[in-house]
Amino acid sequence: MDKQIYELLMQGTLYSQRNLISLLIDRSESKQSNSSYHSIFQQFLIELKVSVATPFMMVGPKRGLSCYVAGFLSNYVTVRDYEKQTELLKSLLQDLDELHESKRAILKMTTAQNLLQITEHFGVNRLLARNTNGVPIRFYFVPYGNRSINAAYFPHLHLVVIYKNDLDSNSNPEYIFMHELGHVVQVRMTKGLTNVPNSFKEAVRGMFKPCSEEVLAEVFADCFSVAVMKGTSFEEKNPLCVTFLQEHQTLLRDYFSSISKVK
Ligand SMILES: [Zn+2]
Repeated sequence: MDKQIYELLMQGTLYSQRNLISLLIDRSESKQSNSSYHSIFQQFLIELKVSVATPFMMVGPKRGLSCYVAGFLSNYVTVRDYEKQTELLKSLLQDLDELHESKRAILKMTTAQNLLQITEHFGVNRLLARNTNGVPIRFYFVPYGNRSINAAYFPHLHLVVIYKNDLDSNSNPEYIFMHELGHVVQVRMTKGLTNVPNSFKEAVRGMFKPCSEEVLAEVFADCFSVAVMKGTSFEEKNPLCVTFLQEHQTLLRDYFSSISKVK
């Protein structure tokens, strides 16, 4: 069984990962423990050097999906309540149901590294490197399209997942990547997925129409992307650098420069 689980993980395709999760669901539903597989998932992540303490690790398209699955499964298989564990496994399977084959290109890892150099130059990498629990940031490149999102940030794993962008042909992968980093900063500053720092609300007062906190979290991520990409070779990849007023862009640059000094 251990071998079968490891092999499914290694195959790395959507099909094999779905089979792996389904197998664990069957076991959990019939009250058979999956907890001993925890070490297989951990070992897999260690072999790919994902478990090291160095921040900004990237896992490419070949292993991106299986690392994503291993990361979540590693948390789920130790849940003692079988009903709860089954529920979690089924939700992971549902998340994978959103994935599909896509001919679109995925963001290149070298481009992502260049984008991280820009954030470093801007002075915010200290805010990105670790979450408030000290977990180092990682990036997984998953070579499938996703029906509901084109990238995502998972704060508890401090993980950014990048898909092929099949949703929105106007959005460049570079802009999407920087938008996600905006969420990383937003969560780091507020410890809440949909919360926005008061200092930001103050800074952009009158700049946008009033909106819910949830929408404002998206505005924060977008404003971050503008502030960091403006004036760099990536500026043209961000559609908002054209639509935002010049004076607002200057104000946003000042604001996001100042937050890099936040403890
Ligand atoms: Zn967003």
